[in-house]
Amino acid sequence: MRLARPLENLIDQLQKLPTIGPKTAQRLALYILKAPPEEARQLARAIVDAQEKIFPCSVCGYLTDVDPCLICVNPGRSRTSLCIVEEASDIIAIERTGYNGKYFVLNRSFKLMDDNDLGEMNLEPLLNILQAGEVKEVILALNPNIDGEVTSRFLASVVSQQQVKVTRLAHGLPVGGDIEFADEITLRRAMEGRKEL
Ligand SMILES: [Zn+2]
Repeated sequence: MRLARPLENLIDQLQKLPTIGPKTAQRLALYILKAPPEEARQLARAIVDAQEKIFPCSVCGYLTDVDPCLICVNPGRSRTSLCIVEEASDIIAIERTGYNGKYFVLNRSFKLMDDNDLGEMNLEPLLNILQAGEVKEVILALNPNIDGEVTSRFLASVVSQQQVKVTRLAHGLPVGGDIEFADEITLRRAMEGRKEL
C-alpha cells in the first residue's frame, strides 16, 4: 500500500538524518502528525532558524549566532591554552571535562583514503590566534584514529614553528572512536594525562 504523498515525503526527509532508519523515520513522522499543530510548526521553524542563524565563529570555528562566539569573548576563560578539535560537537564533549581554555575547530576531518591534501586546510585563522602571542599551549584533541593521527602530526609541526608547546590527549581513548562519543571520565583522564609532542 502506498502512503499519502505528504506523509511519504516526511518519512523520506527524516530518513536522511544520521542514525534514523526507515522504522524510526516512520515512527517520528506519525508522532509529528499526531502532535498539536503548534508543536509541528515549532519543530519546522527551529530547523529553518538554526540553519539560517548559525554559522562558524570567524575566530575559532565554533558554531554560533554571534561573532566572535561566546567562548571567544568570555573573559573568564584562559587565553593561554588552545584546544584543537575536528568538529564543533567535540567542544561539547570537552567542555564536560572542565577545560577552561579556548578552542579552534577545524570543521573538516582529513581522510587519508580520500586522497585530500592536508596543505589545503585553511590554517590562517589558527596562525592569527597563535601570532597574537597569548597562547602558550596547544592541545591536540583529534579523534584517535589514523586520520586524526596524521592530522595531529601535521598540526604539531605547524604549531611548533610558532614556538608554542604542543600536547595531545593521552592514550586511553578507544582507538577508532570519536571524541564526541567518549565518556566523560575517559575524556577527562585523557585531558589530564596529555603528553607533549
Ligand atoms: Zn569563537
